[in-house]
Amino acid sequence: MNAKINALGGNHRMRKHLVLVGGGHAHMVTLENIGRFVEKGYKVTVIAPSFHHYYSGMGPGMLGNTYAPEAIRFDTKHVVTSLGGIFVKDRVVRIDPDKKIAYTQAEKAFPYDVLSFNAGSYVPMDSVPEALENKDKENIFPVKPIERLMEAAEKLKGLFREKVCTISVVGGGPSSAEVAGNVWQLARLTKGHLPKIRIFAGKKFMARFPESIRQRIFSVFHTRGIEIIQEGYVKTVTRERIILESGKSFDTDFVFMALGVKPSTLFEVSGLPMGPDKGLRVNQYLQSVAYPDIFGGGDCIYFEPQPLDKVGVYAVRENPVLLHNLMAKLDGRPLEPFDPGPDYLLIFNLGGKTGILRKNKWVFGGRLAFMVKDYIDRKFIRRFQAIEKN
Ligand SMILES: Cc1cc2nc3c(=O)[nH]c(=O)nc-3n(C[C@H](O)[C@H](O)[C@H](O)COP(=O)(O)OP(=O)(O)OC[C@H]3O[C@@H](n4cnc5c(N)ncnc54)[C@H](O)[C@@H]3O)c2cc1C
Repeated sequence: MNAKINALGGNHRMRKHLVLVGGGHAHMVTLENIGRFVEKGYKVTVIAPSFHHYYSGMGPGMLGNTYAPEAIRFDTKHVVTSLGGIFVKDRVVRIDPDKKIAYTQAEKAFPYDVLSFNAGSYVPMDSVPEALENKDKENIFPVKPIERLMEAAEKLKGLFREKVCTISVVGGGPSSAEVAGNVWQLARLTKGHLPKIRIFAGKKFMARFPESIRQRIFSVFHTRGIEIIQEGYVKTVTRERIILESGKSFDTDFVFMALGVKPSTLFEVSGLPMGPDKGLRVNQYLQSVAYPDIFGGGDCIYFEPQPLDKVGVYAVRENPVLLHNLMAKLDGRPLEPFDPGPDYLLIFNLGGKTGILRKNKWVFGGRLAFMVKDYIDRKFIRRFQAIEKN
């Protein structure tokens, strides 16, 4: 395959080249500042599989029809090119950290001086048999990438109009709760048949969270008739059935896979040092522990000084440090350490304009919690959408 690969370095030898892999939450501020890199004479290339980046915090709300897809996305290609960078719609499949080259699915090669990964995470689909034909997977949707939720919403609306159906959400964490709550909202707004919604939560729904949060969600979902099954893990998912490890099985018409996320597999195939979760192992400077020209942020890293939850909050907090360190590395200046900061505000959107908010030991639920989330999320995305208009 390497023989077919074209090296796309351009005048790489003259201009230092920064390659950004993925335009996710941790690269937003770097993208906003591409003009500064270009002014200094650096070449910037952003490689991402999609022209837009969808803000995950508003993804379940888009599924529930609270937000239009355009309202929750950032036009990565437009921003990159208007600020003087190069946008490549492709997927990085591997890098050679010794030769300092990134290889893509379209068999292109990008030599770099400094590279930063913000390639996110994926939902493992191990319980869906590989032998299933594509047509038999058409009603099985992972909750990431967020774009898939848009597709899922369209299919669900058709189903709700057609018949009383059963929607299964496999997984027992926050994304499962948010997706189930917003499927319920979508069904009510569609004014078709109301579906049966079941969450397959393993042994304990929202196990990582305090009882105060669990009980609030149980109570909201009980009122809505959303069933939470905590009888054990799901072993197999097919288009028509959910089968538990115990052998017990349930009919289904549509499945969301919300089993938690794993970092991109790029680091394993590239032979880069990783953490126990196979995320890129980085030091306090968000820099690879073995290759000083490689940086990373968001769900795809393993932050060696202190393992971090896979939440957008950390990806967002990493932005200014990544921007500073990428520029400093190119300039030959000292790097800045990343401080993950205090406990973060967590708000779940449960659909029906209801939320649950947690900050430290403080928990409250209801409409106000949803309104706070809605305000923060809209403000966040508006800030980045404003760059598109510059
Ligand atoms: C349903 C759901 C709701 C959530 N809600 C919240 C919330 O309310 N608050 C919160 O803090 N967290 C939330 N999270 C967690 C949050 O999604 C992640 O922590 C966040 O997306 C991490 O940001 P990221 O930029 O690292 O990854 P991503 O958002 O996944 O972005 C990664 C980017 O990299 C690109 N990419 C992937 N592979 C490649 C490749 N090989 N080459 C090039 N580009 C690539 C992708 O296209 C994508 O644009 C939620 C997660 C889910 C699933």
